[in-house]
Amino acid sequence: MPSVTLPRLSGAWENLETDLFYNAVVKSWDAIVIGGGIIGLTLARELRKRDLSVLVVERGEPGREASHAAAGMLADCGDELPRPLRPLACASARMYPEFVHQLEDEAGTHVDLRSQGTILLGAESAPESPVVALTKERLTELEPGLVPSESPAYLLPERSVDPRALVFAALRACKHRGVDTSAGDPVTSVDLSVGVAVGVSTPKTSFLAPIVVNCAGAWAGKFPPYSFPTRPIKGQMLSVVPPSREMVRHVIRAREVYLVPRTDGRLLIGATVEEAGYDKRTDSRTIHRLRRAATKLVPALVEARILEDWAGLRPGTPDNLPILGATRTPGYFVAAGHFRDGILLTPITAQIMSQVVCGETPEYDLAPFSPERFN
Ligand SMILES: Cc1cc2nc3c(=O)[nH]c(=O)nc-3n(C[C@H](O)[C@H](O)[C@H](O)COP(=O)(O)OP(=O)(O)OC[C@H]3O[C@@H](n4cnc5c(N)ncnc54)[C@H](O)[C@@H]3O)c2cc1C
Repeated sequence: MPSVTLPRLSGAWENLETDLFYNAVVKSWDAIVIGGGIIGLTLARELRKRDLSVLVVERGEPGREASHAAAGMLADCGDELPRPLRPLACASARMYPEFVHQLEDEAGTHVDLRSQGTILLGAESAPESPVVALTKERLTELEPGLVPSESPAYLLPERSVDPRALVFAALRACKHRGVDTSAGDPVTSVDLSVGVAVGVSTPKTSFLAPIVVNCAGAWAGKFPPYSFPTRPIKGQMLSVVPPSREMVRHVIRAREVYLVPRTDGRLLIGATVEEAGYDKRTDSRTIHRLRRAATKLVPALVEARILEDWAGLRPGTPDNLPILGATRTPGYFVAAGHFRDGILLTPITAQIMSQVVCGETPEYDLAPFSPERFN
């Protein structure tokens, strides 16, 4: 849809209200992305790279929901991933170094992508993907602070990233590329005209675009026309500062708890998986339980100072698979429901969704993720 340009009003009319009115009535974009989490921001950037004008409409502050809460494990190797998701997960993990390199370049900030690998403890069987089984001696060499494990230990070639730094870089990259944003008001509906998407409405205004992509995470089903079955799955976690910087070097995934080190010296300890609606409060007993579980693995963590605790809402779906693709309304697309793997799946989601939106056929089978599968 071409954007129409009218002469600006001036004088007393030239105030914020008029701007909203002017934008609402006159300005249009090629695409509107609903939700400024990591999925929405990186898709907006990808669409902008294809020369589309893009507006991100975020109800709060961009990047402060699940994407801010995540641990940042890029866990494409373990057996926890649902099988239909594995091709996308592996492709996304492979894309990460170049993806981060480009974001860092555009944003001028550092994203803490770490390649030390993951130590997996307590797995019932050896994971299928390429892994190294660790002897007790090798495990102690790799992680001297870890209590020797009686169960088998494996080294997985997985990376990790700091999701907050990633979101910050994505925001800066969007700005750098000229993505527009509207923050502070929720989308209340995707607007249709003769059955085709024509934009979105918020309580204050409407924005026009022939393409609308719903990237609203756990809230993706909360506004018409479709009630996508996304639901919040709460995760509580904490970060600590261990007494020495290199106390934990690898991501460590055990049954009760995982540990994710950052290069700046923080160590993340996570996470619960709870059905608790949209409640984001933390519970001190739960936080202490996580901390105790971490100390059982690495006893010296008893000296660690707690820096922060928080909870976030993973966007869950009934089959634990994301919802990716076109809806049955022409012009309306969805990329939501990434549950525990949205950070991992960020680069591939931006790539395949930009292809779908632009009418191209991605090289991956997206049938298992179809928005229509719940009908
Ligand atoms: C504790 C925890 C640990 C995690 N660990 C990992 C991990 O190690 N690795 C991994 O890959 N993933 C992890 N995840 C999952 C990951 O965080 C999510 O899958 C991912 O962040 C989803 O991104 P998103 O952009 O879809 O959602 P969000 O980041 O939640 O963004 C959605 C955005 O939409 C906005 N929005 C909602 N409704 C509206 C509306 N009506 N109008 C406008 N805007 C709206 C919200 O305000 C929000 O900013 C973890 C999650 C949690 C909570």
